[in-house]
Amino acid sequence: MVVDSLFLILLAAYTVIGQYSNSSSTDSNFFNGPKIAIIGAGPGGSSAAYHLQKFTSNGFNITIFEKNNYVGGRSTTIENFDSSVNSDLELGASIFTSSNQILLNAVETFGLEAISSDEIFLEYPTVLEATTGIWDGTSFLDYLNPSAYSSAILEYLYYTVKYGFSFIKFVFFLGPKIIDLFLQNYYYSNFPYKSLTDITKDIGFDLLTGETGLQYLRTHGISDKFSKIFIEATTRVNYASNIDDITGLEALVSGAGSSSGAYQVYGGNYQIFENFIESSGSSLRLNNTIQTIKSLGSTYEISSLNENGEYESESFDKVIIAAPFHLSNITIDKNGYEISDIPDVEYRELYVTFVKSSTPLNNAKLVSASPDGTAPFILATSVSETGTTLDYYSVSIVDYDDTTGNYTYKIFSESSIDDNYLLEHFFDSSSSLEIIFQHHWNPYPHLTPITEFLDFEIGENLYYLNTIEQFISTMETAALAGANVAGLISKGLNTTAIELPNSSS
Ligand SMILES: Cc1cc2nc3c(=O)[nH]c(=O)nc-3n(C[C@H](O)[C@H](O)[C@H](O)COP(=O)(O)OP(=O)(O)OC[C@H]3O[C@@H](n4cnc5c(N)ncnc54)[C@H](O)[C@@H]3O)c2cc1C
Repeated sequence: MVVDSLFLILLAAYTVIGQYSNSSSTDSNFFNGPKIAIIGAGPGGSSAAYHLQKFTSNGFNITIFEKNNYVGGRSTTIENFDSSVNSDLELGASIFTSSNQILLNAVETFGLEAISSDEIFLEYPTVLEATTGIWDGTSFLDYLNPSAYSSAILEYLYYTVKYGFSFIKFVFFLGPKIIDLFLQNYYYSNFPYKSLTDITKDIGFDLLTGETGLQYLRTHGISDKFSKIFIEATTRVNYASNIDDITGLEALVSGAGSSSGAYQVYGGNYQIFENFIESSGSSLRLNNTIQTIKSLGSTYEISSLNENGEYESESFDKVIIAAPFHLSNITIDKNGYEISDIPDVEYRELYVTFVKSSTPLNNAKLVSASPDGTAPFILATSVSETGTTLDYYSVSIVDYDDTTGNYTYKIFSESSIDDNYLLEHFFDSSSSLEIIFQHHWNPYPHLTPITEFLDFEIGENLYYLNTIEQFISTMETAALAGANVAGLISKGLNTTAIELPNSSS
């Protein structure tokens, strides 16, 4: 149900398993094919390694350089990110949906356990089965309350009365149609593709990426009221962006994705990416920061600062950059050869704060605005009749300790927040509060309208995966870009069909 799943966007995962050591998982010399360097061990780079070996039955000699001491990039738990902190909550990417074929298939292949957000909810006490409210700073504009409706029909009726046919049109037609078209064209019939621009234009998705969410939905018969209240709640929690400041495609992905079921891997989503790397037999070099990529024509010399603080250089036949380029501090030395410039892309600023509290949310503003006197979890909107501007996006429950009775909330905000902020917005002085972890991310691009995307191959044998982030920025699409580039490189060397699993077949 849409309401269930929208509610569940906010949840995070538990328990962490294993840490990667700083050494290679398998001796990469075992694979005698072309030498490939992958820069970045997040969803994109790890998927590229996995699919390169899968399509060619281990035909490549792959080295993955990762500047962090962990695998997963922006998909990590607190513990995986910072081993001195004993908490297994998701710090970055928390959920993926049932249309995310690569991730779901990997969960099955590697014997991981995907839990639906519904299952997690059952672990919370009844008080937390409260409403998710769409909050404008002074009042709740709507509630998403799964338990209030005994049937889906009543739920649909409620939203139809409130938003007219916009709700039905979005949930049953526009959203599913876009997801079907996306899967069919980017995963199956055209896979692997050289140009994201061509395929996007061929199927008319440039209309979606070339307009803001508000414009696109307006021209497709969705009322501004539904877009601004309902869809914007999802664009803010998913992309820290208002509906008029994000592309139509990402607005649809946010809204429609939330109606197709949310999952997370028990123990942390990053395990998918660890498994990708491990099963690829790549040599993994953690704590290695790439500084320069120098073109030697069709091969490359890459220079890095290694885990001992020493500079190293090594030549590779092919290089895959699997990190947002302008955040990576890498310099490309074209050395007179033809390489496309990677445009600067502005990334959002996001603070993720975990707060342990002795009480549920109880700030007077929230409680008095709530019809039943319990403060809901919050999806904060920019719509405000009083002109209030909210600089946070969401507040969600991510843990409840039934021994101590403590609640853990996860807050997404634009700026760093402290105890005073918590008391001003979410709690009152009767709550005992502790900020257990806070992290600043550049989580996703500022998704302004765009119709021309950089090709994945930016120079001969030099590839850039994160061009896909301006199209759709998720773990799944990063993994798709990795698989797609692996497919392009494997053509002619492949031992199996170059195709992605189709869970519907
Ligand atoms: C708070 C937050 C919430 C999110 N929520 C979701 C969600 O619920 N669902 C979802 O699907 N997505 C979500 N995302 C987005 C998702 O995390 C990204 O889309 C995804 O991680 C992109 O994968 P990537 O491999 O392209 O990049 P990254 O995950 O950023 O990985 C790139 C890697 O490259 C490394 N690197 C960078 N520069 C260098 C260098 N010079 N040398 C060596 N290594 C380098 C980095 O350390 C990093 O490990 C969220 C992100 C954040 C931060």
